[in-house]
Amino acid sequence: MRDVVIMGSGCAGLTAAIYAARANLKPLVIRGLEPGGQLTLTTLVENFPGFPQGVQGPELIEHMRAQAAQFGAEFMEAHVTSADLFRRPLVIQAESETIETRTLIIASGASAKLLGLESERRLLGHGVSTCATCDGYFYRGKEVVVVGGGDTAAEEALFLTRYAAQVSIIHRRDQLRASKIMQDRLFDNSKINFVWDAVVTDVLDVERGEVTGVKLRNTKTGAETMKSCDGVFMGIGHSPNTSLFRGQLEMNEVGYLITHEGSKTNLPGVFAAGDVQDHIYRQAITAAGSGCMAAIDAERYLEAEH
Ligand code: NAP
Repeated sequence: MRDVVIMGSGCAGLTAAIYAARANLKPLVIRGLEPGGQLTLTTLVENFPGFPQGVQGPELIEHMRAQAAQFGAEFMEAHVTSADLFRRPLVIQAESETIETRTLIIASGASAKLLGLESERRLLGHGVSTCATCDGYFYRGKEVVVVGGGDTAAEEALFLTRYAAQVSIIHRRDQLRASKIMQDRLFDNSKINFVWDAVVTDVLDVERGEVTGVKLRNTKTGAETMKSCDGVFMGIGHSPNTSLFRGQLEMNEVGYLITHEGSKTNLPGVFAAGDVQDHIYRQAITAAGSGCMAAIDAERYLEAEH
């Protein structure tokens, strides 16, 4: 039986692993479907403290993994397929493997929603981004588009106006879903314009390995147009990876886990860290911080059990 199992290997999971390993708890990290998490989808990270020249997202994650391994964390290349969190010990099914554990730290993250285009997937990290805070800086003086009409798209667009010369919001309807206050800010910003009733049907140019424009289709007329741009930001929302826990753990209406007193969920011995429980900050550094909290909470829980 394990003391600590960590589900997910992004910033939150790996920081939890470093702390739990240093507490001699020999955590098992189940790496999941997107090993390394969202940082592996970005290039240069310039806002993680300690790296004045910036650090490549995948490199930062690899350092965290090595740091956790050095202190005795173990890694499993699998993803959690089911979990019974009402049992004691907790029972985790990771594909064909059944694991019993006294505590579980859920750091399975949230995946940015994508449109599902092949070109979008190929250019992710090369002009297609899901995070303006991470990548906006690279678009100084450039033209970018933001896809979506909700608060995420609004926030991304407003952030991008700090750098980009022009930000076009491409929305599939002619009315935004974003909150009134965000809408007002968008309409007041002279750098922002709107392409209404339009969906992106392709991102160019996969051959060149960089973004040069998007193909659009008007949802009312069916007319196809091209729009040139240097970057595409997907702001169509995130989905927390929590469907496995429905009916067991408290979550909000869109599926983010609800934590209290630090990283505790509603079930004893089950903790949550990172984007799976945070739809507000969503930063590498806040995810790392909450991973640390979850490891400390798990350690204290185990001590109290003795
Ligand atoms: P959301 O409210 O669900 O909005 C998603 C937007 O993307 C919608 O405008 C939707 O279009 C569009 N969309 C979805 N799938 C699409 C697709 N396949 N193709 C094209 N467009 C697509 O998601 P969100 O903006 O991430 O917000 C989620 C929640 O977090 C909300 O409750 C929001 O208020 C909150 N949030 C708040 C803040 C803040 O207060 N600062 C910031 C971010 C998020 P339709 O409108 O046509 O459905």
